[in-house]
Amino acid sequence: MLNGKTALVTGSTSGIGLGIAKALARQGANIVLNGFGDVEGPRAEVLAAGQAHGIRVEYHGADMSRAGDIEDMMKSSAAQFGRVDILVNNAGIQHVANVQDFPPERWDAIIAINLTSAFHTTRLALPGMLAANWGRIINVASVHGLVASAQKSAYVAAKHGIVGLTKVTALENATTGVTCNAICPGWVLTPLVQKQVDAKAAEHGLSNEDAKKLLLGEKEPSMQFTTPEELGELAVFFCSPAAGNVRGVAWNMDGGWAAQ
Ligand code: NAD
Repeated sequence: MLNGKTALVTGSTSGIGLGIAKALARQGANIVLNGFGDVEGPRAEVLAAGQAHGIRVEYHGADMSRAGDIEDMMKSSAAQFGRVDILVNNAGIQHVANVQDFPPERWDAIIAINLTSAFHTTRLALPGMLAANWGRIINVASVHGLVASAQKSAYVAAKHGIVGLTKVTALENATTGVTCNAICPGWVLTPLVQKQVDAKAAEHGLSNEDAKKLLLGEKEPSMQFTTPEELGELAVFFCSPAAGNVRGVAWNMDGGWAAQ
């Protein structure tokens, strides 16, 4: 379905971003990976996912907190593939503390990586998408783009912000072939969330399994983690012809979290 298209997924060396990159590769899209840590493992996984289509996979190590890095990544991706057709703004970090204890530099980093980076990638991707009259911008927000939790001020502010950016981008391009939508996961068991499971285990003297149950039980009625694979399939749907008139939605996949 996506043969000949190129998808750039920020923060795709791990977790949800890697799951989305593999799902898009399975549909035949070329992939630009981004993120920190091991690159060769994720690259091999994405190449294998797209093997039947003979896709190309490139990597750019841009730090999403730096506008200059982002410009370089967008320019070099366009130079390598002609254009970025699908942009998935996924890179994100977390820090947990009450507002009065929240380190200002953590606030700045979360707003820069979880929100401002998506403004930069979007503004730089749009001209090429509009020239082709086809594009898909998918923002990985969170259920925290819809509702709040204590001790996550910067994260909730950034995620509500990216849901707002999603709606504005969708509206400004509503008469074109470029759509913009947000995905709002509940708990997904990635390294970002394992840290919070570990903190619960230490705080209450629990095993890893019991700490997971406690975490889920507080917020997620299904008592199940959403998986990167499920989120990848939602991204594929947003890229499909059937989703051509889905514009500006914030679609939660959260086991009923936001329905409460
Ligand atoms: P993760 O820690 O597994 O992956 C985060 C990715 O972002 C990694 O590839 C990392 O290298 C990259 N990254 C971090 N800082 C970066 C920077 N400055 N520049 C470039 N890349 C950077 O986390 P995840 O759980 O897969 O989270 C991905 C997205 O999903 C985030 O936006 C997160 O807020 C969102 N999300 C996660 C959950 C969850 O339960 N895990 C729920 C809702 C939303």
